[in-house]
Amino acid sequence: SIPDYDMLKTSETFKEFMDYMEENNHMNFRFITKGCGPIVNVTTPFLKKPTDCISLVSNDYLNFTQHPKVKAAAIEGIQKYGTGAGASPLIGGHHEYHVMLEDKLSAFFNRPKGSSIVYTTGYTANSATLLTLLKEEDCAIVDMEVHASVFEGLFNTNTKRFPHNNMTYLERALVDAQSKYRTKLVIIDGVYSQNGDLANMDEIHQLCQQYGAYLMVDDAHGIGVIGENGRGAIEVYNLLDKVDIISGTLSKAFGHIGGFVISSPDIINFLRYQSRQQVFSSTSTPAINGLLKAIDLIDEEPQWRIKLAENVAYYKQGLLDLNLNIGDTASAIIPIKIGDPHKTEQVARLLLSAGIYANCIVYPGVAKKDARIRTSLMATHTRENLDMVLNAFEDIGKKIDLSKTR
Ligand code: PMP
Repeated sequence: SIPDYDMLKTSETFKEFMDYMEENNHMNFRFITKGCGPIVNVTTPFLKKPTDCISLVSNDYLNFTQHPKVKAAAIEGIQKYGTGAGASPLIGGHHEYHVMLEDKLSAFFNRPKGSSIVYTTGYTANSATLLTLLKEEDCAIVDMEVHASVFEGLFNTNTKRFPHNNMTYLERALVDAQSKYRTKLVIIDGVYSQNGDLANMDEIHQLCQQYGAYLMVDDAHGIGVIGENGRGAIEVYNLLDKVDIISGTLSKAFGHIGGFVISSPDIINFLRYQSRQQVFSSTSTPAINGLLKAIDLIDEEPQWRIKLAENVAYYKQGLLDLNLNIGDTASAIIPIKIGDPHKTEQVARLLLSAGIYANCIVYPGVAKKDARIRTSLMATHTRENLDMVLNAFEDIGKKIDLSKTR
């Protein structure tokens, strides 16, 4: 018999659940913000009225969404070409400005022309690439903490997961896959989005070489932010010319929207004509003229990256002085690991009432015992902003014992 719990009933029940959460003062995701910046106006049922808060939730790490040169270039692009792409790339929507962007991305990673392809989002770049390249004769070997978009891309293929950064399990999976599958592709993030820590990339790369596997790195949170020249976690490990597939987003350090893949020109060409998301879905608008400027600014104005690194160092030290557990972060994502989900919610609410908007990450975002407040910094946060946040954690620590979870 067919269960009567159809899509409408499921949705109604979900709405009841959301209402219950709100009535009982549990954190949910009903937040509306105005723009991106170190301070944003927040509307939420958890505040009596719309309030200006210090924002610790944005991936606009360099705050390029607000950079005058980026905005001016975006407007110029719209003036010149209009507001939309008009079609998906393969059937009339691959414009001059898309080519300029792809060439710029290839050059950014010091690869020849033809080494890059742009997708509608970073999410699509990952899922489309994997859905297109990996079939039932192949095997993906993935760190369990990679982004959701990677898992979505594994629908057509075999998957082996290894515990986060665990080389013993990775090697075991590589040994097991070696003679069973055609393509073996190890997939990792450069910077992990819940911990802010980096992949053990040099060891992983070595194991891939040893067992004849390819390596794909999604460095959405690293590119533009870390590495001496802002080329991300892969630059930190000096592997920019060694990784087989690099994927990234245009929505974080570059302050725009879209995703990209860097690989050999043949693989890029294959994706261009074979991935459904490229054939049937439109990509960036002429506003990417602003993005072209943002990419240039990574080299032209390194002061933003430097200021961000200074902010991160200052803030991390402040949290450590408060005896808080920030794990192994090596990026602009800094988690405050609390463990207990109820306590974590309480902290998030207290932060909000002190004018600080930070994300409360609980199961299923992380394991049940690993609840945390996740914070990310921007280059434009001031020392005063950071001191306010540190003072708030100190005050909250007097009410709730946060050091216990260390
Ligand atoms: N990869 C990682 C690691 C991410 O954190 C994200 C964004 N949350 C994405 C990919 C997807 O990027 P986009 O927002 O451009 O779809």
